[in-house]
Amino acid sequence: MTIKTHDIAVIGAGPAGLTAAIYAARGKYDIIVIERAVVGGTALMIDNLENYPGFPEGTKGYELAMKMEAQAKNFGAVFINDDVAGISKEDGVLKVTCSSNSYLAKAVIIASGSKPGKLGIPGEEKLIGKGISWCATCDGAFFRNQKIAVVGGGNSALHEAIYLTRFASDVYVIHRRNEFRASPYLQDRLKTNPKIHLILDSVVERVEGEGKLEKLVIKNVSSGALSELQVSGLFEAVGNTPNTGFCRDFLKLDDKGYIITDDSLESSEPGIFAVGDVRTTKLRQVATAVGDGAYVAAGLERYLSR
Ligand code: NAP
Repeated sequence: MTIKTHDIAVIGAGPAGLTAAIYAARGKYDIIVIERAVVGGTALMIDNLENYPGFPEGTKGYELAMKMEAQAKNFGAVFINDDVAGISKEDGVLKVTCSSNSYLAKAVIIASGSKPGKLGIPGEEKLIGKGISWCATCDGAFFRNQKIAVVGGGNSALHEAIYLTRFASDVYVIHRRNEFRASPYLQDRLKTNPKIHLILDSVVERVEGEGKLEKLVIKNVSSGALSELQVSGLFEAVGNTPNTGFCRDFLKLDDKGYIITDDSLESSEPGIFAVGDVRTTKLRQVATAVGDGAYVAAGLERYLSR
């Protein structure tokens, strides 16, 4: 059976992939968007997106994503639910191999984003979903009037901690240094919130609990002293790992696994572009992901007309 060759296959339906789809479909290209889970990517985890232009009161991440999806569909983009396993090139055509089907395209836009990292500490695996979470907007309401902790010192950690004070009685922010890398405006909000308690220069050594999280064993990295903290929830926000397993043997990646791109956002392989959080870049925001998605369309037009 002959497989149809599409103009463009987009891998991943977060803000970067959705914007690329809107621009390319509006430009009348035949475009498919392959997404293994739900549309929206990490934007789904943002309760109130405050710095995306055009929304003075902020906007919910999932609402923005749903609108982007509808816009891409209105222009003719076709969405496919499948899990990408690999990319190859055969006779000049790119082949995206997924768990259910394979798809051919003249150009591929990788917008597969990243996944949140784990602490990798004893007890963690068996308590995932039993108190340990990576998504405050998904799981925060389970911890009404309870004591919980957040690990990390970046924008995600501080955002999550502040959001979780809506539900929890106390939120302990555990960070391995005594200063945060998060934006100053988040640090100000953190420090003035009476429900938040800082545990600095400290790491979580292990988590304990029978069937559900009960306590953390915390180590002060300066003194080496161990202490215990009784909490029923632990939200991990210790950075991300790019979703590039399916292309790591085919494309040039940086030492952290992000895709290296040139000025046109084209990867080391002609015809394969990378946008949003999955590429090597200095700033990872919804606004920059959207910018990448729009920008890559220009490079694609040049590539497809070659
Ligand atoms: P991040 O900026 O990489 O921060 C990760 C944090 O986790 C750091 O504070 C790091 O500590 C800590 N950490 C890493 N490994 C650890 C370990 N094994 N044990 C304990 N702590 C550990 O990640 P992020 O906060 O998820 O942000 C990712 C990107 O998304 C950033 O570009 C960020 O700006 C963006 N973002 C933006 C917003 C916003 O603008 N509103 C919101 C969320 C995310 P050190 O500081 O000591 O390295």
